[in-house]
Amino acid sequence: GESSWQAGMSLAAVLEAAGHEAYLVGGCVRDRLLGREIRDIDIATSALPEQVMELFPKVVPTGLKHGTVTVVRDGEHFEVTTFRHESAYSDARHPDEVVFVRDLREDLARRDFTINAMAVGTSGKTVDPFGGLDDLRRGLVRCVGEAEERFGEDALRMLRGIRFAAEFGFALEEATWSGLLARREKLRHVAMERVGSELDKMMAGRDPGEAVRLLRTSNLLAFAKEPLPTELPDLAGLASDGSERDEESRTVWSRLPNPDARWAALWLLSGADRALALEWARRLKFSIRRGEAIAAVVGVHGRLAGSAVEPGTDDSEKRRIWAEAVIRFGAEAARMYLDVAKAFPSVPDSVRWGEGWVRKAEDWLDRMPASAIRELAVRGDELVALRGLKAGPWVAEELNRLLTLVALEAVPNEAHALKSAAAEGWAAKKPDP
Ligand code: ATP
Ligand code: MG
Repeated sequence: GESSWQAGMSLAAVLEAAGHEAYLVGGCVRDRLLGREIRDIDIATSALPEQVMELFPKVVPTGLKHGTVTVVRDGEHFEVTTFRHESAYSDARHPDEVVFVRDLREDLARRDFTINAMAVGTSGKTVDPFGGLDDLRRGLVRCVGEAEERFGEDALRMLRGIRFAAEFGFALEEATWSGLLARREKLRHVAMERVGSELDKMMAGRDPGEAVRLLRTSNLLAFAKEPLPTELPDLAGLASDGSERDEESRTVWSRLPNPDARWAALWLLSGADRALALEWARRLKFSIRRGEAIAAVVGVHGRLAGSAVEPGTDDSEKRRIWAEAVIRFGAEAARMYLDVAKAFPSVPDSVRWGEGWVRKAEDWLDRMPASAIRELAVRGDELVALRGLKAGPWVAEELNRLLTLVALEAVPNEAHALKSAAAEGWAAKKPDP
């Protein structure tokens, strides 16, 4: 926050005292003007990396090639970058090379958007050669310079532009938007990992619905290196009153603070099944664990929607299917699914279990004494000893059967009760292989 800003300023003062120029620059300047929480502080300086390293006791050479070092002070990290010009084109026809430049203005000119191309020196004056302040006031995301050219240099900027627009509730300025449309196919040069991380920031941000709307209208994702869902849902249509759509859409997403739940919601609203959700997570280079966690939520829905429960089926049947889905995909995924279902009513509606089933499912879940084998009060080896049969697939099957009974509150989760329930089952369906 403000204290990091002040700490950054005192660092800039050290550079100045040594005869260099130094400014706080980029995202931190923008966020401070917007009154938003300032996260990382970036400093631009005329000093060369070696000179910066001599001035501060604790410096990590994080990006020497790009003229960046990280100064650590009181546990805080400050990225200090020598004024430079960009010459890293994603087409990679030119070798990546960094050209250090003399002055701040040239450094600001390489930056993507006017709102990101402002600097503040120790005098407190804002250096704003491209009209970033005006664009902040008007709520515009505008490229520094010619949009087609800037997106052509680095196609990641298209995703960043959409992210900033959604995050700040800004519009993409007209020439910037048409430049983006003209350069869409360049997205194939961007590593999927970077695409995934930008999209993830959009989904975790203030208004994923608006980000999805911009992705939808630009059809940008159709040009990614690996195919992504192009049939994004029309989230605008989810609100009842068009005039309040923005407000309403943000409120809906704010009820889902967990980014994984938001991803699951997006996939469910896109009509994806569990396998597709897994595949998309893989293409976006999410960790396997994370992809599985998101896909599990989609899986819960698939299990319910695929249950072919007739209208008028009684609750005990629904409760059994629900318990099986919880056991199969885990209580955490089930919880997340209920959050999604409450935020987006079209999701539970498509299960066709009638009015109010989400509340009931929530109650059933709350009352479940166990939903995983490891929570059962009996172990597999105990069943083997009790039955006097060789261990085999029957053990897992039996544990699952017992778990379902416990989950449905039909048998208490106690060793004695579970063992007699197991024995009863064996007696009933003798002989067993
Ligand atoms: P946030 O950190 O909130 O995502 P930011 O603007 O700080 O936003 P960073 O990725 O931290 O974004 O980059 C810091 C600054 O570097 C930006 O404000 C911008 O001036 C510049 N910058 C970053 N990425 C690019 C890019 N792809 N092209 C041009 N300039 C960029
Ligand atoms: Mg930043």
